[in-house]
Order: sequence, then C-alpha cells, then structure tokens
Amino acid sequence: MDRENQRREESRPIAQQTPQALPRERGRAEMKREVEQVVAQRIAAADLLVQPEGEVGQGACLARSPDVEPTVRRPEDRIGENAIIIKVKTRPQRSSKGSQRGAEQKKPLTHVQVRAYVKRPKNAAERKARIAEILRILDEMYPAATCALRHDNPWQLLVATILSAQCTDKRVNEVTPGLFAKYPTPEDFAAVRPEVLANDIRSTGFFNNKAKSIVGAAKKVVNEFHGEIPRTIEEMLTIPGAARKTANVVLGTAYGIASGVVVDTHVQRISRRLDLTKEKDPVKIERDLMKIIPQDRWIRFSHQIILHGRALCQARAPECNECQLNPVCYAKDKRV
Ligand code: SF4
Repeated sequence: MDRENQRREESRPIAQQTPQALPRERGRAEMKREVEQVVAQRIAAADLLVQPEGEVGQGACLARSPDVEPTVRRPEDRIGENAIIIKVKTRPQRSSKGSQRGAEQKKPLTHVQVRAYVKRPKNAAERKARIAEILRILDEMYPAATCALRHDNPWQLLVATILSAQCTDKRVNEVTPGLFAKYPTPEDFAAVRPEVLANDIRSTGFFNNKAKSIVGAAKKVVNEFHGEIPRTIEEMLTIPGAARKTANVVLGTAYGIASGVVVDTHVQRISRRLDLTKEKDPVKIERDLMKIIPQDRWIRFSHQIILHGRALCQARAPECNECQLNPVCYAKDKRV
C-alpha cells in the first residue's frame, strides 16, 4: 500500500479500516476505547447499577433511599480504575407516585414480628387488680394443681424433694418406691452409709451429695425431732439438704402450712415474665411474691406456676397463643 492509500485508510472510521491499515499498538488502544464506550452507553441507557463483584449479593448495599439519589459514577471509570469484572443488577423502575409501594416490595415479608398490645398497670390499684386476674386465670387453668412427687408422709416428701434437685419429678417417682421399700423409716436412712445410699439413687444425678444430705437429714430428724418432720420454717432450715425451697414444699404440701412461696426455676422465670418481680435471686423473688400474693394462695400459686412452666410457659419457646394469661402478660420474650 502506498503512502497516499494509507492516509486515505487512516482517515476512515476504525471499524471500516482494514486490519493491515492499523499499526498494531494503535489499533488495540482504539479498539479498547471503542468497546468501553459501547459498554458504557448500553449500561447508562438501561439505567443499571454497577457494583463491584465483591459487593454483589449484599442486598442492603443496593437499597436506594427513596429521597436520596445515588451518586452518579461513570461505569467506564470503574472498569478502568479497578480493572475488575463487574456484575450488573437491575432495579425496578420507580414511578413518581409509586415510591411507597416500591419500598414495600423491597422488604421481605417473612419473619414479620407482631407485638401484641397489653396494657401495663399504672398504679397500685391496677397492679392489684392485675394480680387478682392472674390468680383467677391460674385457678381456671390449673384447678387441681399439687405437688407431682409421690409420697406417703412428710419424711418421704422431704427425701423426694432433695432427690428432685436437677432431676425430673418423673425420674424421682421411678426411684422412690424401691427406695422407700428398702428404707421404710428415717431411722433406716440414718443407719445407712452415704456411699451405699448413693448407689440406690444414682439415676437421679448428683447422687453423692444427695446421699450425704439425706443421711444427714435422717440423723437430724431422728436425733432432734423424734423422727418427725418439724412444722416451722426455722426448724426446717436446720435440716441438712433443706433450703427455703425444700422447706416450703414440705411444709406446704405435707402440712398445708403456708410458710412461703416455692421458688424453683419455673417460678423464677414466670414471675419475671409476668412482671411480679424484677429480681433474679430466689430469696428476693420469694420476698417480692410474698408481698403481692395473698398468703392463702402461696401454696397453690407455687404449684400452678410450676405446672404452667412445664405445660406452656417453657424457657425457650413459650406457647403464648395457647396461654390464657396472654391478655395480662407483656413479657419481652412473649411469642405471638
Ligand atoms: S403469655 Fe407467654 S410468656 Fe406470658 S405467661 Fe403465657 S406462655 Fe408465658
């Protein structure tokens, strides 16, 4: 090709030039620029959002505030600057009056949390009325609530209650018939060595400590209370293995003496959910409950709340939809 022809070729658009007419380096640069321009024009025409590959998939990054327009960035700048592969995500066109509908469409409809409105008591009279309502509902839900531990006398109930620590009542009820057949009286328990008794109660867990407590309790009852379980909380608390919870269970269930409120794990949790206390320590919870629950309800209230904790108001997933206390309960972890 002579000089004149080459000048004529170069004056034509690149796309129409013959490959022989292009110097190698210049041709590549021109082609690249043209490709980038075409890509940029197409992206801009489609109003597409350009996002680096590392960010694609992070949906929240794509959400556009209804009243703030995104900063305009030229896609070709991004390509040249980062030299990365890009992925493009389209966004639905927003109509001028449809911005609200558009915002709703962006939100996923799953996991919608619904909060029920429950009125909180504002003064002492309302608090009192609410507690009366809670007690009434508990009576309706659990009219025959009582202790689930099988026993024939106060001593057996004391032993069963000591065994029930960190163990289910069901398991204790499986163990005690054989145990009381083998050791019928407190004197029999007082005479046995703790290591031997530990083997008999192994399946209830913590058997070494429980065996020591039961043997110690038997010796105390035989030596100081003539083989009879005492009837006051003060005396009960001197028996090895009998803290306030055990003492309240035995006095309330075996003798019908309302010495306090039984505060086990269910009573702790549900009292806080029902806003009957804000305390975490069982002794302080009991003190709060004894102030607001009438004394003639202490025994029944404990049994009812324990049953409620097992039946519906479980720690992880309370069955609030089936709970009659729902209209008076504003627990934070309530499920509706
Ligand atoms: S409504 Fe739910 S959280 Fe409240 S007492 Fe009933 S089961 Fe428990």
